[in-house]
Amino acid sequence: MVHRVIPLIAEAASWPVLPYAMGDEAGTLRDQLQRPLHDLRISVTDRCNFRCSYCMPKEVFGKDYPYLPHSALLNFEEIARLARLFVAQGVRKIRLTGGEPLLRKNIEVLVEQLAALRTPDGEPLDLTLTTNGSLLARKAASLKAAGLNRVTVSLDGLDDAVFRRMNDVDFPVADVLRGIEAAQRAGLGPLKVNMVVKRGTNEQEIVPMARHFRGTGVVLRFIEYMDVGATNGWRMREVMPSAEVVQHLSAELPLVALEPSAPGETAQRWGYADGAGEIGVISSVTQAFCHDCSRARLSTEGQLYLCLFASRGHDLRSLLRGGASDGQITQAIAGIWHNRSDRYSQLRGAGMLAPTEKRIEMSYIGG
Ligand code: SAM
Ligand code: SF4
Ligand code: SF4
Repeated sequence: MVHRVIPLIAEAASWPVLPYAMGDEAGTLRDQLQRPLHDLRISVTDRCNFRCSYCMPKEVFGKDYPYLPHSALLNFEEIARLARLFVAQGVRKIRLTGGEPLLRKNIEVLVEQLAALRTPDGEPLDLTLTTNGSLLARKAASLKAAGLNRVTVSLDGLDDAVFRRMNDVDFPVADVLRGIEAAQRAGLGPLKVNMVVKRGTNEQEIVPMARHFRGTGVVLRFIEYMDVGATNGWRMREVMPSAEVVQHLSAELPLVALEPSAPGETAQRWGYADGAGEIGVISSVTQAFCHDCSRARLSTEGQLYLCLFASRGHDLRSLLRGGASDGQITQAIAGIWHNRSDRYSQLRGAGMLAPTEKRIEMSYIGG
């Protein structure tokens, strides 16, 4: 797979001197739209054992697909070093993702290294992981012991036939449900379950999923099918807008709107009128939330992406492997964030997008 990256260095010996301050008076780094850098998503593998058609369609991600070689991946020490430098610049939340992050060998060792990081105020991070749940029953306890706070599990339906068709590797839903229970038992909560709703494929699962998880403490979130990447053959007619999901669900289980829990929160919250918990909707297509997007994404091979829909990354691995000091890497990160003006969904929503170059895949950059 060839990805375009913006080289930060011409030669390892000559580091750029960047002409901007690193953070405002309060020490917070801001981009061109005054958005802070708060949330770092780290992809630890570009491989997955599922072939969800909206993410890694089988026809493209077949057995000859050129996944990254192991030497291209950031090792745990490199990831932990970058994470430490990001935390020093304002990151408070780290999410491990992929591909399927639980396929990365000894992932618990990385979790342990990240869990040991502290903010400048001495606080631990909010450390989470997004998984398809297939290996969770086996790994929940060791992840918790390593210091992981929470997990988000992706699950697109309860009906076994629908689920097997959506993961496209015939994986049974019962095993994911066992993983969710194991995560709850291990204390990896409050657990979130993400369901991508694809019209014509799994909208009939909305109500059963809500009934299954309400009253359990699990927060179910419905995600609009996004036009991410270039391989899933996305069509607007397959998007079920969140407003429609809420309307559909409300007819069966009345909902009331709730306040956002934190700034930059991607999900709009709704509570069951009878008090049996809450759900969320993530309206990436119909209601852009770029205005307070505080997320950066680090790819498996150490490219920093500033938007899920970016076509270019910034090469941090060259800095790491070229012998840059912590100060030089910090300066580079500050410069990259400072120049950020990405707001893809907002521009798309306003009909202001020019045709883009080939975009990165979700499996490469993580959700
Ligand atoms: N494999 C893990 C999983 O599935 O949870 C982590 C990586 S996956 C790329 C992260 C999230 O992205 C999942 O919740 C998945 O449903 C979501 N996702 C992938 N492609 C998507 C698309 N086209 N639209 C909306 N969400 C998508
Ligand atoms: Fe794999 Fe997650 Fe993508 Fe599905 S959404 S193919 S589980 S990376
Ligand atoms: Fe953030 Fe880009 Fe998504 Fe907008 S489109 S919310 S900038 S990741």
